Amino acid sequence: MSDAVVRNVIIIGSGPAGYTAAVYAARAQLAPLVFEGSVTAGGALMTTTEVENYPGFSEGIMGPALMDEMRTQAERFGAELIADDIVEVDLTGDTKSVTDSAGTVHRARTVILAMGSGYRKLGLPDEDRMSGHGVSWCATCDGFFFRQHEIAVVGGGDTAIEEATFLTRFADKVTIVHRRDQLRASKIMAERAFTNDKIEFAWNSEVASIQGEDKLTGITLRDTVTGDTRELPVTGLFIAIGHDPRSELVKGQVHLDEEGYVLVQSGSTNTNLPGVFAAGDLVDHTYRQAVTAAGTGCSAALDAERFLATLE
Ligand code: FAD
Repeated sequence: MSDAVVRNVIIIGSGPAGYTAAVYAARAQLAPLVFEGSVTAGGALMTTTEVENYPGFSEGIMGPALMDEMRTQAERFGAELIADDIVEVDLTGDTKSVTDSAGTVHRARTVILAMGSGYRKLGLPDEDRMSGHGVSWCATCDGFFFRQHEIAVVGGGDTAIEEATFLTRFADKVTIVHRRDQLRASKIMAERAFTNDKIEFAWNSEVASIQGEDKLTGITLRDTVTGDTRELPVTGLFIAIGHDPRSELVKGQVHLDEEGYVLVQSGSTNTNLPGVFAAGDLVDHTYRQAVTAAGTGCSAALDAERFLATLE
């Protein structure tokens, strides 16, 4: 089945990037069609509690409430929102087509990609339940909540060491939990951690389980060599083992970097394909914040609007 209409803009993704693109495109009278995803409409912030660093909310706002506001704002200006996944795309021609999970093909002159990226998880049973209750994937977002706490950071790469070092501004003690007996992080980063007296290391260790009902009360570590377990009484657990951009859908059409992030031309949201734009964590190795995702979502809508003007 195919939708006969050729739309101006189709947006894939409903995090801060997708909804912000929708607000801008709708206010520019482009009547965007947004595919929000079937399971995680609203994006990554739907899985957290308090967001204290999104400008405009001086008292903070709950993640799902913030996303609900963005959704309502997009709808208010006429964005059409569908809680479904796009399972296939053809973005190469002048008219782009995207196929939803029911097999219906939708067409548009421009497409904005805003599928975000997923934080890698440890795969523990209580990990999702404890997200926002002591378990976090983002030191910049949540470090402030752990003033005077004793916490753990899982990982051994540059990101983990950077997060651990940053977290020592708040926490009394940070234990870096790493599966091996040496770090993967660059020498300079590692050195910084070794000389920080708030940082300790749990070498050859992995997290076997996490404890707590409403708040994290501790974790169990398993020695990767001997298999022995021990308790670590921490109230925060930061998981810094990487993220995976959700770019599988566009692989082979849109240029990606070696880690799978969508490549955009510097200073814009233009991909290698005319009329295809990308925003948010799908393109962003570095900042990965709601406000930066919203910012590039805005840019993508403006880039799409300008591109459409050149077709007139
Ligand atoms: P996402 O929010 O990841 O949204 C992507 C969307 O695309 C999802 O809705 C998904 O369903 C959809 N999608 C994917 N594939 C498809 C498809 N094929 N078809 C249709 N839809 C699809 N940032 C802050 O600034 N402050 C914080 O306090 C903060 N706390 C966080 C707490 C947690 C637990 C997490 C995980 C992240 C947190 N972040 C925070 C980071 C922030 O959430 C992200 O940077 C931001 O959500 C990225 O926005 P995005 O729009 O690029 O992607």
